[in-house]
Amino acid sequence: MTIETDIAALPPLKDIIREHKLDARRKLGQNFLLDLNLTGRIAREAMINPDQTVIEIGPGPGGLTRAILMTGAKQVIAIEKDPRAIAALQPLVEASQGRLRIIEGDALDISVHEYGSPDQPVQIIANLPYNIATPLLIGWLDHISHFSSLTLMFQREVAERIAASPNTGAFGRLSIICQWLTETRHCFDIPPSAFVPPPKVTSSVVRLVPRQAPLFPAKQDTLQHVAKTAFNQRRKMLRASLKSLGGQQLLDQAGISGEKRPEQLDIPDFCAIANALDNQKN
Ligand code: SAM
Repeated sequence: MTIETDIAALPPLKDIIREHKLDARRKLGQNFLLDLNLTGRIAREAMINPDQTVIEIGPGPGGLTRAILMTGAKQVIAIEKDPRAIAALQPLVEASQGRLRIIEGDALDISVHEYGSPDQPVQIIANLPYNIATPLLIGWLDHISHFSSLTLMFQREVAERIAASPNTGAFGRLSIICQWLTETRHCFDIPPSAFVPPPKVTSSVVRLVPRQAPLFPAKQDTLQHVAKTAFNQRRKMLRASLKSLGGQQLLDQAGISGEKRPEQLDIPDFCAIANALDNQKN
């Protein structure tokens, strides 16, 4: 039997949810995607490389996991916090012909990047629990060379911040660090009605593919620090918001007007400020 027929023979997800009393819990960000067309579409967007391990965060009842396995992944490691879901996933583990491994734990405590390396990177695919989606992403960006791609579902508002251009209200620290390190693509939106239970907001699938090298030279931690400091007071002029880092003097060294507001800068401007700050320290 092929893995596809084994998986197709499993009970429908709604029966798995009922059998394992997997009623959705808000504190775990549980909004399950049961529509096979949509889970299949996310898995296809991920462009799974069969030679690489896929890491899934929060498999829940396993809808997206099924799609990932049926789209050709040879090895999937799925990290889930809810013990009820771990039990519900056992039939899928058995049908997976050894390709699926479940790890019970909190994704915030697990060094996911250690499953990959720059020589053997892994792919992340996830319908993320919304309450921890941004901290998870920021943590993975610190080790971006360990990943070949990240195909992630967020609230649309977060997806917009990731892909935002300068001079827009959504442009900020997340846009700078994501676009500096990766090519980001907003793939498609999914309406609340597609989930069980429906969340309050629209969701978006985003694909991030690490660049060979960052867009412009800068030190990652300095760039992050500058962006965070500037956008902490996004309505203020930079000479005020960056006062703790050297204010006008730092901006003069970077060749940036102190009268601008942070959203008026582009990523090379932020890199210039980060480099000026590092030069000051040396
Ligand atoms: N992948 C499933 C789907 O698409 O239907 C479920 C997605 S649901 C939005 C988020 C999942 O993440 C839930 O299964 C939830 O239990 C799990 N989860 C929540 N917090 C977690 C954490 N800290 N670590 C690992 N999994 C977590």
